[in-house]
Amino acid sequence: MFDVDNKLSTEILKIAHELGADLAGFVAIKSLKDSPSHKMYSKVPVYTLSENMNPKDDQTTQGKVVWPKKAETILIIAIKHPEDTPSLDYWCNPYSGGTEGNAQLIRTNHKILAWLEENKGIKGEDLSYFVEDGGICLKDAAVLAGLGVIGKNNMFVSPQFGPRVRLRAMALPVKLHSTGPTGFDPCASCEMYCRKACPQGAFDEKVFSSNDYGHEELPAREGVYARATCKIEMKKNTDEAELVPIDGKDESMRVMVCCRACEFACPVGNKN
Ligand code: SF4
Ligand code: SF4
Repeated sequence: MFDVDNKLSTEILKIAHELGADLAGFVAIKSLKDSPSHKMYSKVPVYTLSENMNPKDDQTTQGKVVWPKKAETILIIAIKHPEDTPSLDYWCNPYSGGTEGNAQLIRTNHKILAWLEENKGIKGEDLSYFVEDGGICLKDAAVLAGLGVIGKNNMFVSPQFGPRVRLRAMALPVKLHSTGPTGFDPCASCEMYCRKACPQGAFDEKVFSSNDYGHEELPAREGVYARATCKIEMKKNTDEAELVPIDGKDESMRVMVCCRACEFACPVGNKN
């Protein structure tokens, strides 16, 4: 087991940026286990998306987080996903291999993992995007690593890029100091452009309550976000998807773009 090493932390964050991460930070697994989403994960409905991204997602199950063995620290990375780069969200239909944005994150993680093993003898583990497949709640990890906050659009919001980022994590068998959280909270004084922009009214009512769950901190900030309502729009997007060949892929591969209105309406970081 390795001990806390500030020099190592600095080196890893530097290499993460050099290898493609726009944001990067650490959170100790111990504190991540106490974060709101992980504490409540077994209590709230889980929407299963991982098999093929098709609507098995109307089913809900009770979930359990499977924490990576021997892991001490999570390295969380983000890449920016600006409005003028919709191709990062394209995926093949039928779904296979994830979006280009996710592929970019996986490539960056694999490069960091290779660097760690080659240069430091540290064997980390790339974590699935899906908690039900061995992943973690990425937004909580990003907040505790000091990369941003959970916004009133139920998304992770960073100072640099607002909610227009995509996240991925890896587990490391080394103790490294957490790089957050910070007090960043642009939503406290905002007119909530995100909630007003939703075409389906997914933020119109509070769907979780502290009484039901016994926690002050609720999923979706203040318990206001109806995933099932959001999914009505996603289903509409899927049905109306434009079929476009993806560069470098087989002609039969097609793309789909989903609603991001609550992202684009957010003024935070929209110059980047
Ligand atoms: S639009 Fe305002 S309330 Fe919504 S996420 Fe952005 S800063 Fe927060
Ligand atoms: S993604 Fe679209 S439908 Fe879903 S909550 Fe955001 S604005 Fe509403």
